[in-house]
Amino acid sequence: MKHIAVAIDGPSGAGKSTIARAVAQSLGLIYVDTGAMYRTIGLHVSRAGIQPGEPDKVSELIQSADAPAVSLTYVEGEQHVLLNGEDVSGLIRTPEMSRYASFVSAVPEVRAFLLNTQRDLAKTTSVIMDGRDIGTVILPDADVKIYLTAAPEARARRRCDELLEKGQDVTYEQILADQLRRDEADMTRAEAPLRQAEDAVLVDTSELTLEQSIEAVGAIVRRVME
Ligand code: C5P
Repeated sequence: MKHIAVAIDGPSGAGKSTIARAVAQSLGLIYVDTGAMYRTIGLHVSRAGIQPGEPDKVSELIQSADAPAVSLTYVEGEQHVLLNGEDVSGLIRTPEMSRYASFVSAVPEVRAFLLNTQRDLAKTTSVIMDGRDIGTVILPDADVKIYLTAAPEARARRRCDELLEKGQDVTYEQILADQLRRDEADMTRAEAPLRQAEDAVLVDTSELTLEQSIEAVGAIVRRVME
């Protein structure tokens, strides 16, 4: 199989991770969830007692001897993320860590810290990598770029159902407000803001079922692999 790199970007809750994971599995590619890396740094920062709104302390920490070691490992095909060797995959999936991830991701030193790790992953293996700046900054030469989006209400509804299913105490209104705040922050930050790359294909999943979304993205990727 030839080496390929697929970049998927878009706002939170568009279904990127579920769709990318399914397509990667069906096509034999490795799925890399870069949001999990930002969440992991967010967890490290919160454990260090740093509050959102203290970016200088984050850049200091990232450049110090207490900088976190963030690595990915795959257990039965599922990505797990390690923080200094501890599997934190479950701990990072909370609304609090969503907020921390969004906060630390605007700190230039954090983005620089993760850039090479992410590029190296795509060099050694064929990947489907999802995030906010994959097609624009991390893998500008990706073979396929997809910008995956959906209406804010559809995204909030899905994210809310997902967290409720995991037993978390959340409301739709809270998730929608949180999401709009994060979208705004991701799209307006100075460093690597979320935007559609010029050569990215736009896929809007507002009116699509999960199966239809997986099919739409899979068809785009298969065309390039042939
Ligand atoms: O995708 P996920 O919701 O897990 O990402 C959490 C946060 O990490 C995003 O809101 C965004 O601020 C940040 N992020 C980023 N660049 C990426 C992936 C995630 O800035 N490539």
